[in-house]
Amino acid sequence: MTRTAFITGSTSGIGLAVASRLAANGWAIGLHGLATPELRDEALAVVRQAGAAEAAFFGGDLRDPAAVQGLAEAVQRWRPVDVLVNNAGMQHTASVAAMPAEVWQAILAVNLSAAFFLMQALLPGMAGRGWGRVVNIASVHGLVASVNKAPYVASKFGLVGLTKVAALEYAQSGVTVNAICPGWVETALIEPQIQARAAAFGGDRDAGLKALVLDKQPSGRMSQPSDIGEAVAMLCADWAHNLTGVALPIDGGWSAQ
Ligand code: NAD
Repeated sequence: MTRTAFITGSTSGIGLAVASRLAANGWAIGLHGLATPELRDEALAVVRQAGAAEAAFFGGDLRDPAAVQGLAEAVQRWRPVDVLVNNAGMQHTASVAAMPAEVWQAILAVNLSAAFFLMQALLPGMAGRGWGRVVNIASVHGLVASVNKAPYVASKFGLVGLTKVAALEYAQSGVTVNAICPGWVETALIEPQIQARAAAFGGDRDAGLKALVLDKQPSGRMSQPSDIGEAVAMLCADWAHNLTGVALPIDGGWSAQ
């Protein structure tokens, strides 16, 4: 069956990998991001190449509640959405004492409030059609904390809680709502942290990456964005109708400690 999936923040990293994996199902894929026209076209080409039945792009700065509302309306004018993946996310590291107020507001808006408003807009349609999937890309930081990441950790704990509430409210509707909680995934988001650690090894990126991972993630390996794509595809399977309300760690044992 040709389903329609909409994935936020999907012109790069985990979002693009998720979009590509769902495109390989032959589904219609709605991309979203803040990308330049060139990056947008590249992402559209990637999902078409991966097998998308149809591909469309939607803009919208998720820091702006009016833009989130406009995005929800534009996507629904395009097609009825069967699968919503709330993936867009921002990160900023600073202590609680030093965190700028506008950074706190922006991270909460993008990582948590935008997911809430898109779910509010799209869940009733899924329930009305009797089938749907919401997958929220949270983080291991939705399960455990680290220093210097107050808004990120707060937003991801919030996203896990939101996931569970919606899973309960839609339990009998044919719609499941789950969160994925990755540890380290090798994307642009964490490149500054890799480079900061590499500096301690004379700029050796591999050594910096390994040291960074082993601080927290017992496997010593980062995940690849495609690994998260496979997990989303699993949650979208029909057999997973009773797999709802979970916060699934993909973290090499980080949260098991
Ligand atoms: P990324 O930077 O490649 O992707 C983030 C996406 O969010 C981008 O497409 C960006 O355009 C979009 N975005 C950011 N701010 C936005 C805004 N204001 N409006 C609209 N879109 C905006 O990074 P990624 O690593 O692929 O991250 C994807 C998700 O995975 C995030 O929610 C992140 O918190 C989560 N995550 C990443 C890791 C990791 O190690 N990379 C680990 C755990 C969770």
